[in-house]
Amino acid sequence: MGGDSYSTTAAKRLRTLRVEHLTPPTRPSSSTRRATQVHPAEPINLDALDYIEAAAHEIVAHTYTAVPTAGPAPRTPEALYAWAEQATAHLSAEQQQVRDALTLRQSLEHSLHAGDAAPVVAMVRFESCPTCRCWGLMWSRADWVVLCANRRCHDTVGLPSRWSLQQIAERHVARVAALQRTAT
Ligand SMILES: [Zn+2]
Repeated sequence: MGGDSYSTTAAKRLRTLRVEHLTPPTRPSSSTRRATQVHPAEPINLDALDYIEAAAHEIVAHTYTAVPTAGPAPRTPEALYAWAEQATAHLSAEQQQVRDALTLRQSLEHSLHAGDAAPVVAMVRFESCPTCRCWGLMWSRADWVVLCANRRCHDTVGLPSRWSLQQIAERHVARVAALQRTAT
């Protein structure tokens, strides 16, 4: 159940990123011109294109590493998540959690690349600090890392404890999986 929502959400967000940030605003076949065009036509976002290719490659590589006999990967990037989930559905719960954490991290990154930090902020709020266990984790929009707001929680040089999105996604997936185990 949980795995399904990770992959469905990731696919939805990737589609949003692809459609809204990669579709050329002016199509050659279109003869209609908007008289009140506020923004100049933006070129295709090459950074977003590179990003999507890298994300797709990562999920494909992860799936073939886990299941070398997995069938051919779909060509549409957002279809990769359902494919990966299906191909790895027979693996152990731990291995499926690894896949879910990767899917969740990518899902959150899709939103970030689309300019929406809200899903990351929402997830971070529900996870306690891995070091001090406080509820003061914050998303740093500038550095794309998760920071602990507790002043007594810092590294050896006095900087706030920090975690990658991947680390917090792993923590989130493990916590939700444990909740689901006790609920059934
Ligand atoms: Zn802390």
